Amino acid sequence: MTFPHHPAAGAFDAVPPLDGELCRDEAALDAASTDFGGLVHERPAAVLKPGSAEDVATMVRYCRERGLHMAGRGQGHSTHGQAQVPSGLVIDLSTLNSVEIHDDTAIVQSGALWSALVRATLPVGLTPPVFTDYLELSIGGTLSAGGLGGQIGRYGAQGDNVLELQVVTGEGELTTCSPTVRPDLFRAVLGGLGQCGLITRATIPLVRAPRSVRLYTLTCPSVAALTAQQAELIGEGRFDYLVGQVQSPSGEGWTYVIEAAAYDATRADDARLTGDLEHLAVQAQDLPYFEFLDRIAPLVETLKSIGEWKRPHPWYDSLLPASSVDAVVTTTLASLKARALGASAVILLYPVLTEKCTTPLPVMPDEELAYLFSLLKTASPGADSPEEMVAANRAQYDATVDAGGHWYPIGSVPLSRADWVRHFGGFWDEFRAARRRYDPDGILTPGQHIF
Ligand SMILES: Cc1cc2nc3c(=O)[nH]c(=O)nc-3n(C[C@H](O)[C@H](O)[C@H](O)COP(=O)(O)OP(=O)(O)OC[C@H]3O[C@@H](n4cnc5c(N)ncnc54)[C@H](O)[C@@H]3O)c2cc1C
Repeated sequence: MTFPHHPAAGAFDAVPPLDGELCRDEAALDAASTDFGGLVHERPAAVLKPGSAEDVATMVRYCRERGLHMAGRGQGHSTHGQAQVPSGLVIDLSTLNSVEIHDDTAIVQSGALWSALVRATLPVGLTPPVFTDYLELSIGGTLSAGGLGGQIGRYGAQGDNVLELQVVTGEGELTTCSPTVRPDLFRAVLGGLGQCGLITRATIPLVRAPRSVRLYTLTCPSVAALTAQQAELIGEGRFDYLVGQVQSPSGEGWTYVIEAAAYDATRADDARLTGDLEHLAVQAQDLPYFEFLDRIAPLVETLKSIGEWKRPHPWYDSLLPASSVDAVVTTTLASLKARALGASAVILLYPVLTEKCTTPLPVMPDEELAYLFSLLKTASPGADSPEEMVAANRAQYDATVDAGGHWYPIGSVPLSRADWVRHFGGFWDEFRAARRRYDPDGILTPGQHIF
């Protein structure tokens, strides 16, 4: 989709002195007019590369006075224009990327990447507790979404592992919030999709880092076998990390794979960890911890080299309650054609213990056990068009909601205001109140299309 752009002439001519740079050159505007999804192209009038959090506050106040919209951008890895702003201001937070380690906490600026953070913590034997599959995402970007990963059964989401945030509100106030200081702001910003404030800094607790990881691959015969096995394993807390995928290696039929990792385990632990799983095909490998966390990096390089990384990515991500996951996944897979997914698609299916997710966002199904079910599509040559994939996402969204699930809002699904109100459910009133309080003129992050 391409939208017409009507740059606000002269809107950024009176900008006050900044520590960083306000860019209006074509290259900067082009870069801010796209994202990993490649589906939406909204051109801003300017891009701020802030030199400080104060720059962010200054420009929020500047935009507010002039009724201009604005959004933060981490790495632009959202897939439906969520960080784009037609004729407004994009704040490229990648320039705010410092990382400091103080004992067992990290204080990071929001534009820092998770890969940079863990590279800084490992030399002192520490690590953030939870990681997304891909480490080259910004800390502010994933905290604004939630940040789900295979450690969720032990620690919750990335957003559940934040001690304090520095935030610029939609009024241009640079402030801090935490579970005890301005908790309403804290609750509305973590997983809050940039609607109530822009995160400029986060304080993240660190835990002891393992040296190595023993990673088991367990192949299951069916969806039901995979989800039942995952439920058992996550309930017992047997592994430090647990994810799963549905694969189609030959292009015909499906294979159901669990990846389960034990930190600092060795071959001697196999009997304890997998001895009773002999009914499954079990493979094991040992990896250094960073290599384990970063293990999709070689795949990303391959996708870049064959052009798939640059193609449109109409992604769909959902959280399904345990009571309906088998039915939804089985029905979905039964009608899913290869062309509806593209050449390099990934289908994720893994369990989430909702009680570990203590922040209100992202919205979770109303059961103790839920499953992330993601259809990470690529509109490759010969596959369905991006528009067809987005339409299919919408149908999948409706099926998800009918089954008591929620979408995990990083993907490509056009939602109406009524959809959003239903999505936030019992948290909607609090979220809307926070928006009114902290962004009274509604200038922040229009690309989410919530308010
Ligand atoms: C290859 C790949 C793998 C992924 N794996 C996972 C995964 O395992 N788990 C998971 O949970 N997610 C995953 N994601 C999704 C990812 O977490 C989100 O899309 C995330 O928002 C992207 O971070 P970003 O820095 O690129 O954010 P952007 O795309 O730049 O921004 C996303 C949204 O957040 C807003 N935003 C960005 N920074 C800030 C800030 N500092 N303050 C306030 N608002 C801000 C933007 O305005 C926008 O609305 C993956 C995405 C990709 C492309």
